[in-house]
Amino acid sequence: MEIRFEATGAPKAKPEWNNLGFGHYYTDHMFLLDYTEGRGWHDARLVPYAPLALDPAAMVLHYGMEVFEGMKAYFAPDGRVLLFRPQENARRLNCSADRICLPLLPEEIFIAAVSALVRVDRDWIPRLPGTSLYIRPYIIADEPHLGVRPPRRCKFIVICSPVGAYYPEGLNPVRIYVEDEYVRSVVGGTGHTKCGGNYAASLIAQKKAEQLGFTQVLWLDGVEHSYIEEVGTMNIMLRLGEEIVTPALDGSILPGITRSSALELLRSWGYKVSERKISVDELFQAAKAGALGEAFGTGTAAVVSPIGTFSIYGELLTVADGGIGPVAQKLFDALTGLQWGKLPDPFGWTYEVKIQAALNPEESRPALILS
Ligand SMILES: *Cc1c(COP(=O)(O)O)cnc(C)c1O
Repeated sequence: MEIRFEATGAPKAKPEWNNLGFGHYYTDHMFLLDYTEGRGWHDARLVPYAPLALDPAAMVLHYGMEVFEGMKAYFAPDGRVLLFRPQENARRLNCSADRICLPLLPEEIFIAAVSALVRVDRDWIPRLPGTSLYIRPYIIADEPHLGVRPPRRCKFIVICSPVGAYYPEGLNPVRIYVEDEYVRSVVGGTGHTKCGGNYAASLIAQKKAEQLGFTQVLWLDGVEHSYIEEVGTMNIMLRLGEEIVTPALDGSILPGITRSSALELLRSWGYKVSERKISVDELFQAAKAGALGEAFGTGTAAVVSPIGTFSIYGELLTVADGGIGPVAQKLFDALTGLQWGKLPDPFGWTYEVKIQAALNPEESRPALILS
């Protein structure tokens, strides 16, 4: 794939690196690739970051025809720029696209696009501890058409946003409201995909939880409202004695890459790990009986998010004395160590984005012909 490169004529001022927050700043360029039925994907280009021109009848604006990914580029102490398991993001984007009838994107194009954008905007990768470059690849249906049918024209876009440390003062336990009115997903629906509509539908419960003084919701299954599924936009894990349990991927849960990496690490450390149904009753009884050692969420943004308090059946239950359990801390240290290239990588999870200019300082921007 050849990528046309149009460099920005007006590079933006960089943000204050110690006050980035999440999703406030965007880099100088963006990646665009068009899809037309019959012709396939074409016209790969890196262009200055700018608003998109969309026809007001573009299908994405009416029927939510959009899928996305969330991943990060990390600046390692030795100067390498690393991605974490990007093939898994490429695969999952296709799984999401397939479910809502958007065209599939070859995995090597996904990785080449992300790498090319990270390479040209490498000066935007923050270097302070815990900071990273958040990457948002997505597909939209930009065909103008008001009928409801699969689109014949789409765009694959990648943008990047430098983000701050999720926990500037160390892991911070969250308060969780168990949501028994609204549901996120049902088997047969789209809960296992990252499609935009899922997040619009989840906001009302998040708003309610915040009004009640909680950080996030624990979603229950959409049929019986009795099995736990996810916490906010993270997968959930519990430690019951020395066993780690997490809801099985039954079609209504997002298959998190942090989730699968955490499970693999836990198994490699000799923990017993079960993926199964967990009822809210079991969670309640375990917490009451003191058998719930830890609970935490896993996801790209926070990596590991310890749960300090649950509100279940109108009762407030404290977990791990409201602090951070040893397994949550161990997973956080191992995953962040791997992602930032500070620990050996026996699983081959890190992917280096070759910054060619580092090899040839004369050349300010690298060639953009990528296989
Ligand atoms: C993205 C996401 C996750 C976490 O997935 P990671 O690949 O670990 O970042 C979990 N649940 C939902 C609903 C998500 O959107």
